[in-house]
Amino acid sequence: MSSNDSRRENANDADSRTTLENAPVAEPIWSEPKAEIDQYGRPTGNHWVRCLHCKIAVGTGDKDTASHKQTCPLAGTGGIDE
Ligand SMILES: [Zn+2]
Repeated sequence: MSSNDSRRENANDADSRTTLENAPVAEPIWSEPKAEIDQYGRPTGNHWVRCLHCKIAVGTGDKDTASHKQTCPLAGTGGIDE
């Protein structure tokens, strides 16, 4: 039952796209996760992402504590400066 309902909601979302553009929705911050490659060209099993604003690359698990560059709008949001 609930799956049918969510389908209907999705259809409504397409109609209200203009409202979404005006809403302060968070823009994408991180690039798609990339597999980390070791010096031999083999995947290490870890993944990293790149900040789309200041281009720093961090492990996928370190996004919340990443140290962004001062020019990045996300600088200081890591919560470790205080
Ligand atoms: Zn950044």
